[in-house]
Amino acid sequence: MGITLKDLLALGRVNPQDSAESFNMAYLAARGCARVNAVSRLHGRVSRQLFQALFPRWPTDEVPIGHVTNGVHTPTWDSPAADDLWTKACGRDRWRETTESLEHRIRAVADSTLWQLRNTSRKAMIEYARARLARDLLASGASTDEVQGTSRIFDPNILTLGFARRFAAYKRPNLLLHDPERLLHLLTDAQRPVQLVLAGKAHPADDAGQSLIRQWIQFIRHTAARQHVIFLSDYDMLLTERLVQGADLWVNTPRRPWEASGTSGMKVLVNGGINLSELDGWWAEAFTPEVGWALGDGEEHGDDPAQDAAEAEALYELLENKIVPEFYTRDEQGIPVAWVARMRKSMAQLTARFSANRVVREYAEQYCIPAAKAYCDRATGNGSAAVPIVAWQHRLAQAWSALRFGEMGIQTAGGEHIFTLKVHLNGLDPVDVSVEIYDNGLGADAPIRQEMQPARQLKNSTSPPRVSGARLRRSSGFGLHSAYCAEEWRCPDTN
Ligand SMILES: *Cc1c(COP(=O)(O)O)cnc(C)c1O
Repeated sequence: MGITLKDLLALGRVNPQDSAESFNMAYLAARGCARVNAVSRLHGRVSRQLFQALFPRWPTDEVPIGHVTNGVHTPTWDSPAADDLWTKACGRDRWRETTESLEHRIRAVADSTLWQLRNTSRKAMIEYARARLARDLLASGASTDEVQGTSRIFDPNILTLGFARRFAAYKRPNLLLHDPERLLHLLTDAQRPVQLVLAGKAHPADDAGQSLIRQWIQFIRHTAARQHVIFLSDYDMLLTERLVQGADLWVNTPRRPWEASGTSGMKVLVNGGINLSELDGWWAEAFTPEVGWALGDGEEHGDDPAQDAAEAEALYELLENKIVPEFYTRDEQGIPVAWVARMRKSMAQLTARFSANRVVREYAEQYCIPAAKAYCDRATGNGSAAVPIVAWQHRLAQAWSALRFGEMGIQTAGGEHIFTLKVHLNGLDPVDVSVEIYDNGLGADAPIRQEMQPARQLKNSTSPPRVSGARLRRSSGFGLHSAYCAEEWRCPDTN
């Protein structure tokens, strides 16, 4: 690249001069990119804080990191039965269409058809899980009895929960295990039993993750849970595919805001699975009460054990009082009407929205095409657009140190404030600069940034140019922060 190692490393630091600062790959990437984006709305907010240091004195909300929420490649994750249902309802172009048209047509599918899909998919997944467990047991040298016993595990008519992911501590894979007695009660209820299929792996060096897996294995070995819980090893995409096709309910319990997006929950949508998840990552923007269930209060609490306990309690309560009853309340045809209604809304409203189709379109429209256009603009005429920019930078660099603000006037009437400001331009043309007024907002008020309009300058006047006419209106409290006061101005880097 024609740069020294020292210069390369400097690009990965907040302070390029500080050789003691460790090298950060994400900083290097951000400095080398035309645009930066996060992978969910909440992740965007978190990322603007994480990268704030690269944009000193910028308001956090304006750190230039947007978001494109992840989506999954729908045809990869749908079961043959789900694909059949969608093709009949929406035609062969089902995954190429917009959210709106799909939504409309899934609404017209009969309850019995949707419920049939669920029953078929659950049964297929259970058969696969039994066979896979038998294979695992055989490989670990279990007795013939034990291996044959796998054919009696699980029941294809029971509410089936799926939980499969990397066992990393922030995902709290043992939140459901918080009160083992209560979980056991839930699983083994005589009238309304529940079964749970778990899969996952932890990084070999992640002792905490390994220990979380051991806790589950012990729970399964030493209790009456054995018929109701399966742990499958060697979690990979093939296993994910089977689980997301068959689970009625997909459970996700990360510690907010650590789940950047999460994608496994999106994989169940096309198959009619319903999500029960912490309001984190994609679910923080996808959740509405009609499409699934939410955990947590939408706030961050760190790794406070009291909060984990409260959320475990909420998880059990949701399952006991809302989810299990909804699954087992049937009409005269044996259809759980409220469950199917939720399933339909989740399929209709979320499948296309959290698909790769929408993602690719957003990347193209918001990122790739504007970046390509900007490149063409720069490249036109052999980069001639750069000439006035460089001249402007030189003018600015020379005048900058003596630029200053003069007095500011405020007129207030009816909750509206009109600001006028004198600016000593040190010989610059008023069009060389722009002056903005910035209100940080009080409490829940969003910040306001507004460009001030140059007032007409009198010919031959000796008084400095004035800037006027910025109007700010606030319904409630009003706080003007002089974050951009004169002494904090620095000359932009002209290199
Ligand atoms: C989808 C998928 C993931 C991501 O799962 P999350 O629950 O979103 O973390 C991880 N591993 C495999 C094999 C997957 O298919």
